[in-house]
Amino acid sequence: MNLLDGKIVSQAVKDRLKAQTEERMLNGKKVPHLAAILIGNNGASETYVASKVKSCAEVGFKSTLIRFDEDVTEQNLIFKLTELNEDFDIDGILVQLPLPKHISEQKVIETIYPEKDVDGFHPESVGRMVQGLPAYYPATPYGILLMLAHYKIETKGKHAVVIGRSNIVGRPISIMLSKNEYPGNCTVTVCHSHTHNLKEICLQADIIVAALGIPEFLKADMVKEGVVIVDVGITRVIDETKKSGFSIKGDVDFKEVAPKCSFITPVPGGVGPMTIAALMMNTFKACEAKD
Ligand code: NAD
Repeated sequence: MNLLDGKIVSQAVKDRLKAQTEERMLNGKKVPHLAAILIGNNGASETYVASKVKSCAEVGFKSTLIRFDEDVTEQNLIFKLTELNEDFDIDGILVQLPLPKHISEQKVIETIYPEKDVDGFHPESVGRMVQGLPAYYPATPYGILLMLAHYKIETKGKHAVVIGRSNIVGRPISIMLSKNEYPGNCTVTVCHSHTHNLKEICLQADIIVAALGIPEFLKADMVKEGVVIVDVGITRVIDETKKSGFSIKGDVDFKEVAPKCSFITPVPGGVGPMTIAALMMNTFKACEAKD
């Protein structure tokens, strides 16, 4: 069993971006600038946004963190997004999800200009991605591709089973893995909450992407020997032994499943850091596009 180590790969991506950003500065070019919007005080969202801002500093990007109270109106949020859209210095805009219930996620996503949509959630970005046109790929699936490529995982002709069909992970990674280029050319099966015989389908998989959000769902008897497993799940589970009071669990029962795998991502330290590295890549590209 080999680890697909998100810490190592994300560091390699960030080192490259740092060198490229320094080169831009030396050439008198614009430095990438990410604007992040955080609403309320959700612990997990706070952690994610803090990591994104920290990563910007690590690679030499500018970042602006804009905070709103939980009761911010949709109108005020849209107004701020419109301002950021028009601000030349801002290259990428991200709004940390989930949003409070009174704000329409779709409306927020569609307000961000596609050229600043570094999370890759805008329908135009998704449409371009589906058609194989240059686009900002959603950060988590893009991070998964970067990781597979780093470890030179063979994907051509492989049967990839994706568990989950959300707009941010399952659906886009299933499309990306079926693309006619590396890492892709897989035969993809998308499974979801209405799938029958999930175990039988998983047993046929050469590659499994688990993105359903149920801790330790995938067990050893559901996978074949030599499978490559990408565990996207991040669930906080109460854990009295931890200072924080919780531990992070993936969707795969790592202890049971790992011995059967050729490659597997750990949780934490797998897909999570890759998501941030991919976001940095998108922000860099958004800045470069203005040259
Ligand atoms: P979601 O709740 O939007 O979607 C879950 C999907 O799983 C749904 O499509 C549903 O049909 C499917 N599903 C639910 N129960 C199932 C079952 N028993 N069998 C088969 N399919 C089932 O979740 P999401 O936003 O895609 O996130 C999934 C997980 O990935 C969560 O734990 C989330 O925290 C994590 N996540 C991690 C990162 C990262 O950077 N590592 C990024 C995004 C999401």
